[in-house]
Amino acid sequence: MTNMAPGVPSAISQLVRRIVAPNPGLMTGPGTNTYLVGVDEVAVIDPGPDDAGHVEAIVGGAMKERVRWILLTHTHPDHWPAAERLQKATGATLAAFGKSPKADGFDLKVDRELNEGDVVEGTEFGLNVMHTPGHAPNHLCFFLEEERSLFTGDHVLNGTTTVVSPRRGGDMAAYLSSVDRMQKIKRLARILPAHGDVIDEPAMKLAEYVKHRKMRERQIVAALSEGPLRIGAIVAALYTDTPKGRPGGLPAGLIDMAKQQVHAHLIKLRAENKVEGTTFTAPWASS
Ligand SMILES: [Zn+2]
Repeated sequence: MTNMAPGVPSAISQLVRRIVAPNPGLMTGPGTNTYLVGVDEVAVIDPGPDDAGHVEAIVGGAMKERVRWILLTHTHPDHWPAAERLQKATGATLAAFGKSPKADGFDLKVDRELNEGDVVEGTEFGLNVMHTPGHAPNHLCFFLEEERSLFTGDHVLNGTTTVVSPRRGGDMAAYLSSVDRMQKIKRLARILPAHGDVIDEPAMKLAEYVKHRKMRERQIVAALSEGPLRIGAIVAALYTDTPKGRPGGLPAGLIDMAKQQVHAHLIKLRAENKVEGTTFTAPWASS
């Protein structure tokens, strides 16, 4: 376990430093991880929430004239709002998926549009861009070839669960096929998630993710085999593996999240003809 205290740059490897933003929470774990890649030229991945102290820590940890790029994994609001302040301080190029991804309140001008197969090249490194929809339609992962590390944004996390919410553009089928593509990266050494510590056994983690989702799918199909159920009832039947013995097993704050996950699974299962009904007429369409 490396230091997850906010505001303190910690060296992850020769080329990578991490600074945790001061936004811990249920969904963000210890806070958003901001990564600094490179030495002579620096790419900042996910500058995080707009917090003056956090931006100062980034600039101090990288030396401001060396920050050349600000890269966004996606536009959820715990990842990008510091970009403007950081750009003012450094003059760096802001790069994200698509021209100006109009989603999640994102309103900054993107200087460089990134797409699958692009490479962000610094003096000491190359960051290969993977477009990985599933958690968010505009989600990118960055593969650092020199260290065989994958920056996974929110697609793979350590300690918290990745939410695939149809309400926010989440897509379970796309999510799993993006995971499948990650599993095909040869000699992947580590995963650097946007929340939580370094994942040193990426193959094991990815296999766990797939196994967990497959298990949920089987549970949903089984629950529906008895007859139609609303999403809330499916959640109560499935999420029993959590502590405190609450009805449904989940703390209130997580019930909505669980409903979203179940809804995402149902959309996928319906497309595969494994459950009946359509999104709008099925009994599980609303809570
Ligand atoms: Zn996110």
